[in-house]
Amino acid sequence: MAATAVAVGTMKVAQVSGPGGDFQVVEREIPKPDAGHVRIKVQACGVCHSDSLTKEGLWPGIQYPRIPGHEVAGVIDEVGDGVSVWKKGQRVGVGWHGGQDNTCPSCRRGDFRNCQNGKIPGISYDGGYQQYMLAPVEALVAIPDSLSDIDAAPLLCAGITTYNALRHSGAMPGDLVAVQGIGGLGHLGIQFAQKFGYKVAAIGRGPENAALAKKLGASVYIDSKATKAAEELQKLGGARVILATAPSSKAMSELIDGLGPNGKLMVIGATFDPIEVAPVQLITGSKTIQGWAAGTAADSEDTLRFAELSGVRAMIETYPLEKAADAYERMMSGNAQFRVVLTM
Ligand SMILES: [Zn+2]
Ligand SMILES: [Zn+2]
Repeated sequence: MAATAVAVGTMKVAQVSGPGGDFQVVEREIPKPDAGHVRIKVQACGVCHSDSLTKEGLWPGIQYPRIPGHEVAGVIDEVGDGVSVWKKGQRVGVGWHGGQDNTCPSCRRGDFRNCQNGKIPGISYDGGYQQYMLAPVEALVAIPDSLSDIDAAPLLCAGITTYNALRHSGAMPGDLVAVQGIGGLGHLGIQFAQKFGYKVAAIGRGPENAALAKKLGASVYIDSKATKAAEELQKLGGARVILATAPSSKAMSELIDGLGPNGKLMVIGATFDPIEVAPVQLITGSKTIQGWAAGTAADSEDTLRFAELSGVRAMIETYPLEKAADAYERMMSGNAQFRVVLTM
């Protein structure tokens, strides 16, 4: 999106110069919002594994330099023409769903989440690793007063993805739901699953995270290094849903036999490798495998409201914007506990 060049001061941004390029912290002119857009004074922006799509140039058609970031929380400081519902001074966020075209077949059916020309902040246009960001109104999420910017930010991608996948999974209160992976997604998935009233089995590699998983709400911890997780799930009656968060196709493949009748493997951990499954594994017990991506701005508001009501929060490490490169490296190391958030 071309910003109208009207100088209203400068701001700091952390941009990627090209595919595989390093982060550069540079000054840019503060842009003015076009019609149908607002300018957000960014207060916090989560660092998500999907930011590697921009950093490494893994998504087709990215124009560089590009500013990553799709877990944005801040306050509207300017509105463009035609913006009536959203006001200056209002606290808002922007998540993975960065806008839709309103005209494609999916949009015409109201399925904005699956818009064929959907925009993604930090990929289609500059995201939240900057002090001021422009966003279309379709992408705006109202943030409840009781949630801080730092708490809200990671809920706008990691939070909504786990919350929305679980609430559309078909699992009912009391059902056995397994959460595979105790990381950026999984530690939120366990909390949401427990607050939804499921019996939660957390699946991690090694004993390290057992105590944490229980603290987050798991009633069972399964160490997939020490045991066969699928067999352990069958001992518990078989999972109604397995939320697969860790980006390992092999680990996901090994869990399919842990599903109970009508069980579903809900895939949200993104990899490019195939999941291996034999047709008879699915036919026996009418099992399914489904993928899920985030959700709309309205879904994000549901997520924030539920987090506000239930106390679900991400565990967070913060870095200042100037340290975006360190923050990104920390996130990519897999050692962060568990979401990394930039503060402006
Ligand atoms: Zn994300
Ligand atoms: Zn569309």
